[in-house]
Amino acid sequence: MSPRLIVVSNRIPTEAEPSGGLVVALHDCLTTQGGVWIGTSGTPVKDPAPELREIAQGAYTRMVFDISEAEHEGYYLGYANSVLWPLFHRRADLVQVQPDYADRYMAVNTRLADMLAEFAKPDDLLWIHDYHFLPLAALLRDRGVTARIGFFLHIPFPVVSDILALPQANDLKDWVAAYDVFGVQTQGDVARVMAHYRDDPDAIFDTQGRMVTLDNGVAPRHFPIGIDAHDFAALAKARADIVPLAMSPGQKLVLGVDRLDYSKGLVHRFEGFATFLDARSDDSPKATLLQIAPPSREDVDAYKDIRTELEQAAGMINGAHAELDWTPIRYIRRSIDRDTLASVYRRADVAMVTPLADGMNLVAKEFVAAQDPEDPGVLILSHFAGAAEQLTDAVMVNPYDAAEVGEAVATALTMPLDERKARHAKLRDNVMTEDIAWWTDSYLAALRGTD
Ligand code: UDP
Repeated sequence: MSPRLIVVSNRIPTEAEPSGGLVVALHDCLTTQGGVWIGTSGTPVKDPAPELREIAQGAYTRMVFDISEAEHEGYYLGYANSVLWPLFHRRADLVQVQPDYADRYMAVNTRLADMLAEFAKPDDLLWIHDYHFLPLAALLRDRGVTARIGFFLHIPFPVVSDILALPQANDLKDWVAAYDVFGVQTQGDVARVMAHYRDDPDAIFDTQGRMVTLDNGVAPRHFPIGIDAHDFAALAKARADIVPLAMSPGQKLVLGVDRLDYSKGLVHRFEGFATFLDARSDDSPKATLLQIAPPSREDVDAYKDIRTELEQAAGMINGAHAELDWTPIRYIRRSIDRDTLASVYRRADVAMVTPLADGMNLVAKEFVAAQDPEDPGVLILSHFAGAAEQLTDAVMVNPYDAAEVGEAVATALTMPLDERKARHAKLRDNVMTEDIAWWTDSYLAALRGTD
């Protein structure tokens, strides 16, 4: 019998059959091998109960734990999303250092460690997800838990100089080293984890002077996350013409799909698109950038201004370039469901995925999967998306360079069919092969120690 799998993530699905890549993948793993999925209960409560509460039982069990209003502010909005998120996304300037944020973060992790230590058995496999729970393995080891514990960081690992902005920079080393598997998205992330231990007396170096393991014999490893590529491609094909898109004949569609987050580089993207508009002649095709950008984390200060900034940029660019029959930038601030999104991806001529920092970026992979291989669109991809290590046949750009981004849009819109097909075939091959099932299998093999 396979060992019991215990998955911990901040949010867990509440519906019986969840949808969307990672959630489905974890649901499928747990359904096959049995186990427990643990997360926060969602809405903060007055008096958090000190134990885990079972919310669903089937092929596996789902359990939640409460957090208080103060913990929601300090642990979630505070330390996770106003300290770790900006720091790990190269925005140390946005980090809000406040002692009570760190205290609440540790309090939530400590309570969770107490609860987990109660029922974790030595032959369980624990798989902890993301920056909300970095200290968990260290806390579990303190409580005598001997089971194998793995972590996967969905966001980028920061550069050493940025980590110094974190008062807990030294603790972070111990948090990482307490895991049996410390998984990150890319080789770049592995290098950055290693760099953090450069002066560590316990780190082990190879003959070229590169650090190969942490003191417990564990090296960080990269597992680039994928999507449910086959299903998504089939969905996009089936829904190709289902959603009406207000476009005139001959008009080209350039697509952006992002949570409204400063890491996504949306204002830079609009400015890049504006340089493309500046350079076009009257008979060039009328391309419209359709930007889908649902707001997120609106309770966090750093997110309050980006919406206004983006709307102002769109207004200025449209004011300068719009014509009676054409709006160059269309901006949708609603979240679009997966089925509709698949249909829109399918018809886009170009996707602009130009984050300033991103762990992976699944939108890039979804766009590739959704395209028609016989007449595919072109992916413009930032060097700073984790996906850039795999999707090397995209048109790569520096998102800070508006002129380069503008040229990339022109190149993509005029790319001959042969080149589009050749690039897309390679991108598609990667997205289909290194999909979400490949990712969960690779990670779990490493966690079991059988790879
Ligand atoms: N997404 C969606 N509706 C929207 C916008 C985004 O379903 O209106 C989905 C998108 O399809 C993708 C995910 O949200 O699966 C975003 O993942 P990504 O890795 O690109 O960025 P993240 O939001 O995790 O930083």
